[in-house]
Amino acid sequence: MNGPTDSPRLLLARALRQKCDRGETRVRLSPEDRAALKRYLKSSRPASARQTPPPTPSTPNPAPSAQHPAHRTQHPAPQTPQPDLPLENLILPGAGKAEQIEYLRRIALACARCPHLVATRTQVVFGVGDIDADLMFVGEAPGADEDQQGEPFVGRAGQLLTKMIETMGLSRAQVYIGNVLKCRPDMPRGSTGNRQPTESEMATCLPYLQAQVAIIKPKVIVTLGGTAIQGLLGLAGGVGWHRGHWQQYDGIPVMPTYHPAYLLRSGSIETKRKVWEDLLAVMERLGMPISAKQRGYFLKGKGA
Ligand code: SF4
Repeated sequence: MNGPTDSPRLLLARALRQKCDRGETRVRLSPEDRAALKRYLKSSRPASARQTPPPTPSTPNPAPSAQHPAHRTQHPAPQTPQPDLPLENLILPGAGKAEQIEYLRRIALACARCPHLVATRTQVVFGVGDIDADLMFVGEAPGADEDQQGEPFVGRAGQLLTKMIETMGLSRAQVYIGNVLKCRPDMPRGSTGNRQPTESEMATCLPYLQAQVAIIKPKVIVTLGGTAIQGLLGLAGGVGWHRGHWQQYDGIPVMPTYHPAYLLRSGSIETKRKVWEDLLAVMERLGMPISAKQRGYFLKGKGA
């Protein structure tokens, strides 16, 4: 049933979804109808969208060279911040998960909403893993290694995350891994290392993560580090305050825990044990089997 505020665009999306639900995969349009639809879509899009239209599923990937540093100056740098990205523009209605995530990925790969990050990134780091995963890990932003390889959590911290996942009895390919920010935060010229994303950068990029979660629909999300909690849930206070306590995002249980990079920096046995307790709670929540050996990890270090 249509609501009083439903836009023609929404009604069209709904009608197409209903056809899809009935197993219809094609829509016949007369040349006149096709022209009228084109005119409508052109006139109903906001001015900003007309300037930088999102790619359609049939749009080829941006050529890798378009993201090469040598070509960065060719990116149209927006003079004003781009408007919020409503989820309805990021999620292809009536499509399957694989098609939806590919559509979203193509939009993100071409994203230029943060000109300062576009100018320094090697590539957008979208996310990786099983789109049917029950478990999703969310970090804060790509670092130098991720920026180079185009995959989240591939540096030393990523290797530790992989080890943590495997200790849970899963493989990296069985979970989904993403970040709040999809581009590496820029660093002052000549400096090495990584920096935390700003609140404004995270807020700008958040719709992509929200759309990933909406498409994947994990049963549990684990946030890694305080910045990820702040970015996804808007919770200040630091990871030490929130870890071990279940939160909710859009009805999905969220377990905050420490970032693997923190474990590498200051990894006391107590901190490792806390992270493992958080992951045990996640395993229980997912109904995963837990062996006595898994329960006993790190207890020896505490003299147990
Ligand atoms: S950080 Fe996110 S919003 Fe900003 S340019 Fe990259 S993909 Fe776009």
